[in-house]
Amino acid sequence: MKILHIGAECYPMAKVGGLGDVVGALPKYQVSMGVPCAVLLPMHRTFFLQQHQWDVVHKGKICIGNADLDFTVIKKSGNSVGFDLYCLDIFGLLDREKVYGYDDDYFRFLAFQVAALHWIASLEQPPDLLHLHDHHTGLMPFMIKYCFAFSQLKNISTLFTIHNASYQGIMDEEFRNLLPAFDDWKTGMLLWNNQINSLACAIKCADSVTTVSPGYLSELYNNSFGLEQLFHQEHQKCKGILNGIDDEVWNPATDRMIAVKYEQEIVDWGKYANKMHVCNTFGFDAELPLIVFIGRLVWEKAADLLSSAIQDAFRLFPEKFNCIVLGNGDASIEQDLTLINRDYHGFYRSQIKYDEAFSHQLYASADFLLMPSRTEPCGLNQLYAMRYGTIPIVRSIGGLKDTVVDISAKNGFGICFEQLSIQEIANGVGRAIELYGNNKQVTQIRKHMMNINHSWQKSANEYIDIYRSLISSS
Ligand code: ADP
Repeated sequence: MKILHIGAECYPMAKVGGLGDVVGALPKYQVSMGVPCAVLLPMHRTFFLQQHQWDVVHKGKICIGNADLDFTVIKKSGNSVGFDLYCLDIFGLLDREKVYGYDDDYFRFLAFQVAALHWIASLEQPPDLLHLHDHHTGLMPFMIKYCFAFSQLKNISTLFTIHNASYQGIMDEEFRNLLPAFDDWKTGMLLWNNQINSLACAIKCADSVTTVSPGYLSELYNNSFGLEQLFHQEHQKCKGILNGIDDEVWNPATDRMIAVKYEQEIVDWGKYANKMHVCNTFGFDAELPLIVFIGRLVWEKAADLLSSAIQDAFRLFPEKFNCIVLGNGDASIEQDLTLINRDYHGFYRSQIKYDEAFSHQLYASADFLLMPSRTEPCGLNQLYAMRYGTIPIVRSIGGLKDTVVDISAKNGFGICFEQLSIQEIANGVGRAIELYGNNKQVTQIRKHMMNINHSWQKSANEYIDIYRSLISSS
């Protein structure tokens, strides 16, 4: 059984959010469990790319519409990431600094998918199954099934994982002419609401579909940004599998990105030492609870409410807590969060950037992690926070509902709220401040959370079970 994961991100080569974490960790765990896995992603011009040795393994040509494009597949030398890592470059299209955010993204990812299949078709021993991640790979199951150029790939099974259904890869119907030739009467498989919809196409054409938490899948049946009916139609092949965390990367006892390493037995001391480090940098009083937000500053994360909610909380609980926001995203949200720096000097600081090392330092330093998400397919932040003994304050939605139990319940360890509003977020902060006053309970909760097993082991096995059943029935 040979598996090829394909996605737009893969940590440590390229990461924007949780997708990168998953594609960088799941194959590593599967390899360690005896399942040969490799990963293919576009060749983004990242620091990692420049810092490592690569060998050219394939050169080919594709034609997209009127454009003749040369592509190259490179493979990372050595095995430092725990699996074979391949990158595909198309000159002028994929070799760029950012993973997403270009006007021609639709064309870039379409060309990537076509070139990837050409490469796979050229392999002497092609994979038995493609594990495809998010809409950037969503047209591949269709092409394998219906494009004449790829008829030899028909026996390869496909599993499509939805990390985020709000990004669907939508294009005008006329872009179908950019795909390699296929029977016209199959066009309907590409479309949803008269447009090419890569996510919908994958749900229709992949052999199996998973979401990154069971809770998120049940929500998608009622609210999936227009795909509700399709999810109902295809429910038999859909399954929710909760993401895990990569213990090699996210472990306070070994994490080289944090100031002071610590284990469960000395969690209070370890967290305080790390908090001192951060508070000294920002001129905060380390005796106050430190509440952090880490994430993309976008609507889905309810980051648009953050600035008002933080101001509300400071009005209700003045000088009772410190707060740091680490993130980037929508310009107006970035601006709102920056503007309030001067009003709460000494208690609040926004860090508008993407900074992997600082995020680790914050998980280790913070007493609480705030995650008021509007939608949350799984959420890794709360799992990382728990691993570092940081208490999550979350809105109970999607994967957050699956993984965080409110302190009012038996063995509860988080602060949860149902409705999303500025007041609810501020109330959550209030409950956190109150909890922080109870040292004994905080210590118990920290130790309990650090003990919860969120390793990839279990989920990696669930995927392997699906691989086996698809491969044996193909
Ligand atoms: P999503 O994939 O929707 O962005 P997740 O919670 O699944 O959300 O994963 C987010 C990942 O991205 C986590 O690893 C988090 O630490 C990281 N992250 C998000 N924003 C930043 C940032 N500004 N700097 C560093 N890491 C970040």
